[in-house]
Amino acid sequence: MRTNWFFTILLASVASASFLLSCSKTNDEEAMTADAVSAELFVEDAALAAKLMSFNPASPSTLDSAEITALTFIREEELMARDIYLAMKALWNLPVFNNISKSEQAHANAILFMLNKYQLPDPAAGHQPGIFSNQDIQTLYNALLAQGSQSLVDALYVGATIEDYDIYDIQHHLGNGIDNPDIVFVLNNLLKGSKNHMKAFYNHLKFRGVTYMAQYITQAELDAIVQ
Ligand code: MN
Ligand code: MN
Repeated sequence: MRTNWFFTILLASVASASFLLSCSKTNDEEAMTADAVSAELFVEDAALAAKLMSFNPASPSTLDSAEITALTFIREEELMARDIYLAMKALWNLPVFNNISKSEQAHANAILFMLNKYQLPDPAAGHQPGIFSNQDIQTLYNALLAQGSQSLVDALYVGATIEDYDIYDIQHHLGNGIDNPDIVFVLNNLLKGSKNHMKAFYNHLKFRGVTYMAQYITQAELDAIVQ
């Protein structure tokens, strides 16, 4: 499954590369950014999927309330990111939104794997794009969708904002009572993914003359991620 997906991306890259030969430098640089993101995401998401398969689903231990709260919240947080990026892809047709939406799907799947392993309910059972059971996530989705619909630069800014928020939120959860090694592993993978996504959106904005400033994490943390 992973291999087929990788080759689909590869074929799409080859097709877009030949198309771009006749286009401007702008499109070439965008394609290179998008391709670099695709390659990194493939390695990350494949490693995460392989590691999840090695966990023993037959021997669940108990989780504490901080861990249950984190899994429940982050499951919908990842789907919120995916839904926003799919909406931005439909509006602005820039490959980065499509590539990162696939990574967010892998993250949402990893959290669902954990919820299933620990026999916890899925807050996103029967998920419809753009509809969330957590009202804070619903409010954030509505605001980000409205902002990202204004222009391509707004959409990229929304992307950086989501990743800023995700990095802050995952670090907050990791620093507050989460010690189950499965969950620490999964959250660290999601964090690593978010940092890559941040780099991609930051560079797309920079390319258009816009400097994204940190809103949730510190500016020093952001500088370290995008340097
Ligand atoms: Mn994510
Ligand atoms: Mn992300």
